Amino acid sequence: MGEADTTAAPDRRLRSLDPATGNLVAELPLHAPAEVGEAVHRARRAAEYWSELPWQERRRALLRWAAHLVRDADALCALVHAENGKPADDAYLELALALGHIRWAARHAGRAVAARRVAPGTLMANFQARVERRPLGVVGVIGPWNYPVNTPIGSIAYALAAGNTVVFKPSEHTPAVGRFCVEAFTAANPGLPVGVLGAVFGEGGTGAALVASAVDLIAFTGSAATGRKVMASAAERLTPVLLELGGKDPVIVAADADVESAAEAVAWGAMSNAGQTCIGVERVYVERSVAGRFHAALRDELRDIRAGGAYGPMTVPEQVDVVRRHLVGALEAGGTALVGGPDALRPPYIDPIVLVDVPESHPAMQEETFGPLVVVRTVDDVEQAVQLANGTRFGLGATVFSRRHGLAIARRLRCGTVSVNAMLAYAAIPALPFGGMGDSGFGRIHGLEGLHAFTRTQALARRRFPIPGMTLPTFRRGPGTMRLLRAALNRLHGHAR
Ligand code: NDP
Repeated sequence: MGEADTTAAPDRRLRSLDPATGNLVAELPLHAPAEVGEAVHRARRAAEYWSELPWQERRRALLRWAAHLVRDADALCALVHAENGKPADDAYLELALALGHIRWAARHAGRAVAARRVAPGTLMANFQARVERRPLGVVGVIGPWNYPVNTPIGSIAYALAAGNTVVFKPSEHTPAVGRFCVEAFTAANPGLPVGVLGAVFGEGGTGAALVASAVDLIAFTGSAATGRKVMASAAERLTPVLLELGGKDPVIVAADADVESAAEAVAWGAMSNAGQTCIGVERVYVERSVAGRFHAALRDELRDIRAGGAYGPMTVPEQVDVVRRHLVGALEAGGTALVGGPDALRPPYIDPIVLVDVPESHPAMQEETFGPLVVVRTVDDVEQAVQLANGTRFGLGATVFSRRHGLAIARRLRCGTVSVNAMLAYAAIPALPFGGMGDSGFGRIHGLEGLHAFTRTQALARRRFPIPGMTLPTFRRGPGTMRLLRAALNRLHGHAR
């Protein structure tokens, strides 16, 4: 890959800053591609040991990790607050989600990798057929800064539970959080060989080096733009990729919704974490008959919500520019502000912004804003809401508020996951697979599908005994065998029953 900024002088350091104050939070080594290669090599050696452990042993190691993170929760949350900017309570909520994933993956990996016998079929009746799942080997996990604990752990825990070792590259904006999580695993499991879970630190170039390295899978979470680069680079070695990318998640508020509870949920879903959530609410489609009530309820919900209180600053300064571009452009294109407006931009803080009447084709309706800005649009009916909800290139999550038709509407949405009558509920259920389609990526993490994603399937066919005269793959096959085969095919397939 091109941007090899990690080839710089070996004494270069990676510095993370507090987004609220600009103060230095941590200084870490900046790993060059050669060091990334060494980390992968260590993980490869450790995989020989880790993959051979009974899954119950891996479960114990993962649960010890979780217990260690709980013990040090306050220190971890303080670090998340410092590097990412989110309030410590939100960091604690994030940790709760991550712990749920560690426990779920640890406890279900045995079932997920259990061998399965399948019927061999009449012509192969003398065979035993099995489907087995094996670890892939070494998994490279690349994580973003917005949920620096839950997002990577949502891949790491499943990869480890399935028997892989992991090299983790945290975002350059939250490297100390990444290091904390990795060191907690090592401290909780001092008897394990080095390299079961390792980390490399750096900027995009370090991630690029990990993608180009000899890993067996890349589990990438980040933007669609970087996801494309990752996939193109991984194609060089035909390394498989799991891509968890951005979103433009819609909410549908139907006429039979509990409108006040929908407004409460949208306020939080759009603004919490300063809107820097891949499954955050960016668009709302409200049926005309309840639109007025919804607007009023949403205004009420947000009346006292301010950045720097209810949620933190923008973690990355460039993100303020994206929000500004979408806001200014949407207002110029005819949109109006229901809550906030240009004054809401007080970098690094952005107060809640709600826009209405923004043309559907505008970037504010089509591109990921990734800030505390949501656009609400009135629609004639649910049919139109579904059409518009499905009208972007993204397809990650969605939410539907409807007392009677929630699931039916949800099934019509072109996306990976939907929450009905609650906000982001699926994200708190580790058994549910998570992932998107289109520009939101592909593949699934979490749940059984998430465990399967970190295994390779091996098919095994074992002959138990020969059937005289019915051996097909041999040059000794004679006319008698072919007569038997013709008779068998007639009986097996010569009818439409
Ligand atoms: P980026 O795509 O900028 O970065 C993601 C990670 O990739 C970072 O660790 C980054 O390193 C690294 N990286 C950058 N360039 C390369 C490269 N060429 N090759 C390999 N790795 C590289 O995303 P953000 O960190 O800005 O995260 C925000 C995005 O993540 C949003 O689009 C959001 O929607 C999405 N996201 C998706 C989630 C999901 O599950 N679907 C969950 C959370 C976020 P560095 O930071 O050091 O540059």
